[in-house]
Amino acid sequence: DARSSGRFFHVHSAQIDTAFQRSFTLLRDFESTLQSPSDFRLVYQPRVDLASGRCVGAEALMRWTHPTLGPIPPGEFIPLIERMSLANPTTAWVIETAVAQMARWREAGLDLTVSVNISSANLHESDFAGSVKAVLARHDVPHTALELEVTETAVMNDAELALTQLKELADAGIRLAIDDFGTGYSSLSYLQRLPVQVVKIDRSFITEIDTDPRQFSLVSMMVSMTKHLGHRVVAEGVETRAVLDQVRSIGCDEVQGYFFARPLSPQDFVRWMEQRVEMECAVA
Ligand code: C2E
Ligand code: MG
Ligand code: MG
Ligand code: MG
Repeated sequence: DARSSGRFFHVHSAQIDTAFQRSFTLLRDFESTLQSPSDFRLVYQPRVDLASGRCVGAEALMRWTHPTLGPIPPGEFIPLIERMSLANPTTAWVIETAVAQMARWREAGLDLTVSVNISSANLHESDFAGSVKAVLARHDVPHTALELEVTETAVMNDAELALTQLKELADAGIRLAIDDFGTGYSSLSYLQRLPVQVVKIDRSFITEIDTDPRQFSLVSMMVSMTKHLGHRVVAEGVETRAVLDQVRSIGCDEVQGYFFARPLSPQDFVRWMEQRVEMECAVA
């Protein structure tokens, strides 16, 4: 068979070479794109408040269109750049771009909280809080309009230092969210010490909530626990009406997901908002 003839190993190592080659190319090109980031952009996914039915905020998500390889998903390039110490300049670009967009929206009368994903390395960056405050000041955007999303795993990686950074951000009025909640390691007592306002329950728990009773109990428990700690709870990845009804019934405060909207360009985001307001007016 293939294995005994040695072909198995041959094919296997060729695949490794290809994957390695691609990572190498992506990293090299990502780093040069950071110098003049015309192939990067941000898209914005609405977050809907279930009590009012209003869109109260958006999550900024990075997009990279490689000149020859086409769109590269963040699930591929973010882990790569995080391993290669490119997370700090990347987050700097994301925050600058998102805050500049918020300033333009605010001028046009659109007052939204925008959340940005940050990396573990940002919590180890010297004066990260200071640099975020400087961007907000330069664009004249209030601290409370920006939210930073951080995963449990990122926080647990040198927890004391992370806590100090998060406290500094929180003291400045910048909002903090735990992202992908439930997928990392976290201790309840530690979660209680974090100065976060929002907990976002990972999509992997949400998608099967309407068909799997075990998922339903698990999410119910997560929701009541985080609400007890005084946090707002967001359900990520809501794709259907059935899932929406379930997360509403167990007390989630907000939802994000394809059921309402995919991540949108700034122009499409504004159009989406306008259509929703028209719908609300039509219903009222
Ligand atoms: P995340 O922060 O948990 O972001 C939510 C992801 O779920 C986004 O994927 C979004 O498009 C996707 N999503 C939202 N609603 C639905 C839904 O109803 N169904 C499905 N199937 N997916 C949904 P995206 O944009 O591909 O980003 C993937 C991950 O990459 C993000 O997960 C985040 O961890 C990371 N990422 C994206 N942009 C940035 C960034 O600017 N900086 C950093 N550090 N990480 C980023
Ligand atoms: Mg996120
Ligand atoms: Mg994330
Ligand atoms: Mg998430």
